[in-house]
Amino acid sequence: MSEPTAAASSGSARRAKVLPEGVRAHNRALVLTTLFHAGAMSRADLARETGLTRVTTSDLVGELVASGVVVEQGTRPGARPGKPAVLVDLDRASLKVVGIDLSDAHELRGAVIDLAGVVGERAAVPRPATGDGALDAVEGLAADLLGRAGGRVLGVGVGSPGIVTADGTVATAPNMGWSDRPVQRELRDRLGAPVYVANDADVAALAERTLGGAAGDFMLVKVGLGVGAGVVAAGDLVRGARGATGEIGHVTVGTDGGPRCACGRDGCLESWLSIRAMEERIAAGADPRAVRRDAGERLGIALAPVLGVLDLAEIILSGPAEHLDGPVLDTALDTLRERTFRHDDVRVRLSAQGEDVVLRGAVVLLLHGELGVT
Ligand SMILES: [Zn+2]
Repeated sequence: MSEPTAAASSGSARRAKVLPEGVRAHNRALVLTTLFHAGAMSRADLARETGLTRVTTSDLVGELVASGVVVEQGTRPGARPGKPAVLVDLDRASLKVVGIDLSDAHELRGAVIDLAGVVGERAAVPRPATGDGALDAVEGLAADLLGRAGGRVLGVGVGSPGIVTADGTVATAPNMGWSDRPVQRELRDRLGAPVYVANDADVAALAERTLGGAAGDFMLVKVGLGVGAGVVAAGDLVRGARGATGEIGHVTVGTDGGPRCACGRDGCLESWLSIRAMEERIAAGADPRAVRRDAGERLGIALAPVLGVLDLAEIILSGPAEHLDGPVLDTALDTLRERTFRHDDVRVRLSAQGEDVVLRGAVVLLLHGELGVT
């Protein structure tokens, strides 16, 4: 074994240089996370909340004000005598995100959203051809909205159907014609802006967690063209071994067959519950109430073991209220209670965020990806 050499000492010098920037990034994220959740406060209060020194806090706030992420917002009313404390906060109204929702049955939707989740400019294009054509359409939609955003844009957040890995590669999304396609990287290269791509139901679950006030562990079931879900446990999105947590649409429900599914099998949850499946059965003459009760019962059967395993506080449905409110919700809840033990108090409700849930979730993707806000 040799003595420590110049290489070793230059290694530790490099570490010494890297470590403070790592700490600084961590502290910066802590400051931004605290401001995001608690709202405007003085530098002194911010130091107290974060546990950082006042010098460090002022230094970081100075840097964040200079970069336009944080703004000073006047002084606190009714403050103690002496020099009044200046309040600082994230620049919630001027910082923008472009959100893109690829989950709608008929069109690709996009919007400019501020950090408070308020939706501004909107754009949409008809659902295009799949594969390269679909990516071109997403690029065009995002470029259009980036051009119209005004203010400072953090980047683009995309909610895509299908299985999406942590690096934004779409492993499989038949509705988009993408398979092992690095959509996040391709869009970054084309747009020259930060882009984050995640599964649409996961993005919706993030919106519900951060902007919708969901408490505790929950599962958000997104019902539209297909059926997917996002699971939040211990405050975090559960990704799973394949990035496919919540892909319940093609789980067979029951042993009695059922409608033929687009995947070629019979009785998948999607073949009972997707909006298209329900609309087709109703158009063929079935009683709408019975169709929705059947869908709710199959949802309850599919979710009972999930509830038993994960001990969720809530199950939140996201999709058109005219289909999901009433018989679907009620029957799902009854079925869950029948089939689980000690979960009588589980809540099953409709998301209050309506059609914009994925667009608003894009804000959460960018807050985390670009600013480290958790
Ligand atoms: Zn299926």
